[in-house]
Order: sequence, then structure tokens, then C-alpha cells
Amino acid sequence: MSPTPGPSCRITAVDTYDIRFPTSRELDGSDAMNPDPDYSAAYVVLRTDGEDEPEGHGFTFTIGRGNDVQVAAIHALRHHVVGRSVDEVCADPGAVYRDLIGDSQLRWLGPEKGVMHMAIGAVVNAVWDLAAKRADKPLWRLLAEADPEWLVAQIDFRYLTDALTPQEALEILRRGRAGSEQRTARLLERGYPGYTTSAGWLGYSDEKLTRLAAQAVADGFTQIKLKVGADLDDDVRRCRVARSVIGPGVRMAIDANQRWGVDEAIRWTQALAEFDPYWIEEPTSPDDVLGHAAIRTAVQPVKVATGEHVQNRIVFKQLLQAGALDVLQIDAARVGGVNENLAILLLAAKFGVPVCPHAGGVGLCELVQHLSMFDYVAVSGTTEDRVIEYVDHLHDHFLDPVVIHEGHYTAPAAPGFSAAMRPESIARYTFPGGTFWAADLDEKKEGRAA
Ligand SMILES: [Mg+2]
Repeated sequence: MSPTPGPSCRITAVDTYDIRFPTSRELDGSDAMNPDPDYSAAYVVLRTDGEDEPEGHGFTFTIGRGNDVQVAAIHALRHHVVGRSVDEVCADPGAVYRDLIGDSQLRWLGPEKGVMHMAIGAVVNAVWDLAAKRADKPLWRLLAEADPEWLVAQIDFRYLTDALTPQEALEILRRGRAGSEQRTARLLERGYPGYTTSAGWLGYSDEKLTRLAAQAVADGFTQIKLKVGADLDDDVRRCRVARSVIGPGVRMAIDANQRWGVDEAIRWTQALAEFDPYWIEEPTSPDDVLGHAAIRTAVQPVKVATGEHVQNRIVFKQLLQAGALDVLQIDAARVGGVNENLAILLLAAKFGVPVCPHAGGVGLCELVQHLSMFDYVAVSGTTEDRVIEYVDHLHDHFLDPVVIHEGHYTAPAAPGFSAAMRPESIARYTFPGGTFWAADLDEKKEGRAA
């Protein structure tokens, strides 16, 4: 097929990549449930037949084994995307989203949860990357400047209207227009506040924790986070160390990564309360709405935060309806992409709950900053008690990596969703055939032969 000019071009391919980084070797990312993650991306590129047309890049995040399963799930969606008009897709990403979640045979594998849903998120996010590039705007700005009625039409309100109607969503977005230009100016000047988890991985020594916590404060962060939940005596010691390093004026969140049952979560959090933790994150199963509500009642004034493993907008709705959380943690790549996160941001606004996104992993900081910046400019209108998680590794694999300045995310200026990975990183870390993994396999073979 010969290339066609821009206006009539079509998506010609959905290329997928299994990309894995050997992070487990340094214990980066280690927590009570995930002791040895190899941070990975199931990565997708939407290619078109237009000359000088951008590609759409997207991905979802996994921690190693199973990334091939995730890639296969993305591959299973390609027939919904290949052949579509790029103009139409970019004018209405919601049409793609609805087709993907509406595939009745694939829907059986969810519905709207798990591997298939994360695959949908990767493809939908790639569509938004393409749309933002073609609009020549960073995604946060495309969303913040979009017509409120168009944004509402991007959302699937099925299962939501008992908590949030399209009319209420529209009113929130219309109210968000007031003062949005000033907030955009302030965002461009100051950035969006972040907090760092880099000091607090469970596998790090007290010496490393001390050094990195002091560095975080020196770098301008006003909140850090520690992983907890493997051993209470260790947690008491590590929280004491961290609090003594950062002083009383810096917030310290703790994160159990779903380690506990409800009663244990309450006991453990109360045992750490003397160190004044700001929130306890993922104290128990992400599916346990009533469990979170019980924990929240029992551990206050420590706040309850969750969301990075919440599978869809419906569970978020229930968490909000049940008064089960103080802090809502969206993830850019777990639910069905930007469209479903629009719904979740508006639900949080309706219930008056601050959104502090989960990030880190591979490229999650790059993606989710756009959603928080949109939230600030056009939905909640504030950054008070709102921070985006920051972890300082793997950014150099991205073409448009996050920029942190004095504890704040700098607003991205490049068009798109900041999702594109460097071609040389893809070539090196593709599993198992990329140059890094092929050499690693050879070394292991030689080791066995010796
Ligand atoms: Mg977490």
C-alpha cells in the first residue's frame, strides 16, 4: 500500500514489545509483596500510512514474568484498531475505548479488569498519545483546553450514574473553566508537587535509607514514602530512622502493598502511629471496599490511600461511596486508559477526595503527570494535599522524560503523552532477544557449563 497524505491516513499496524529491565538485581522497587520485581512494559506502537504522521505510543506496566501474557492481550485487540481512520480515532478516542471494552468475547476475560483491561488501557493511551501529537499539544493541555461536553462524551457512564451523572460531570468541568488560565500559568511556572519513594524500598539498608531520605529533603520534597509490612520490628526501626532524618515537618507515607488482612492492618498501622505517618497505602486487598472502610475508621488520623491496583471505575465508585479512602491513587496504566481515568478524576472531585497518583514503575511518572496537571487546571482546581509519586529510575529510557525541579514535576511541553521509549532501549531490553537479555542468557549458559 502506498502512503496516503495526512487527512485520510489509517492505522496500519499495532506493534507490540515485551520490554523488561533487570531491576531486581539492585532491589529497586522491592516491597513486602514484591521482593524482586523486574520492571517491565508491555509496549505498543500504533503505526499509520501517513507521510510525516506521528505514531501513537502506549504501554502498561508489569513486574517481569507475565509481561508476555500482557503483550499477547494487547495483540488480541489489534483488529479493533488496524484500518481505522487516524482522523476519526483522534477526534473521538472514546469510540475506540467503547469498542475495546465492548468486545463481548474478550470481555468475558474480565469484565473490565485484569490483563485484558490493562491491555485496553495500553492501546487507549497510545490513541491519546497520537491524538495529542496531532493536536501539537502535551496531553494535559489537550485535556485542559477541551470542550467540557466533548470530555463528558469520552466517559462510559454505565455503572456510574448512581454516584455521578453526565450532567454533574459537565457541571464540574464547566466550573473548572473559571481561573483555568491562571492555573495553567502557575503550573508552567511552578510545576506540580511530587513526593519520592526512592528512599524507602524494603530491601535497602538503614544507611541507604538515611542517605536517601536526607537527599529527598535536600532536593525539596515535602513528602517521602516507606515500604512496610514484612516485619514489624524492622518497620518500627526504619520509621524511627526516617522520621529522625526528615524531621517533623516533612510528611512520611507508609505503603504495605496489600500485605495484611483487615485486623492486622489496623494493629500494624496503630503500632507505627507514633511516627506520624501521613497515610497508610494499600493496607489490604484492593478489592476489599468494606475492609478499607473499617481500617479507615480505626486508624484515623492516619489517612487511608489506595488505587494502584483498583481495577476499574466501579470499584473506585464503591470506595468513595463507602467512605473507604482519604486519598485516591489513580494509575495511568491499570484501568482502561485516559477515558476511564477521566471518570475516576471526576468521581473523586464529586466526593471531594484528593487524587495522589501512583507512579514509578516503567514510565508511569511520564504518563500520570498529564492526568494530575489536567486535574489541577480543569477539575479540582487545586494542588493542596495533592502529590504525584516520584521514583528516580528508568526515566532515561524515555524520549521525553519527566523533569523534577525542587520537588515538583515540570509541565511537559512536547506534544503527546510522554510515552515514547528510546529505540535503543527497546532494542537492548526486549525480552528475551534484546542485546541485554541475550548476553545475560549466554552468561548463565557459560556459568552452568563451567
Ligand atoms: Mg504503592
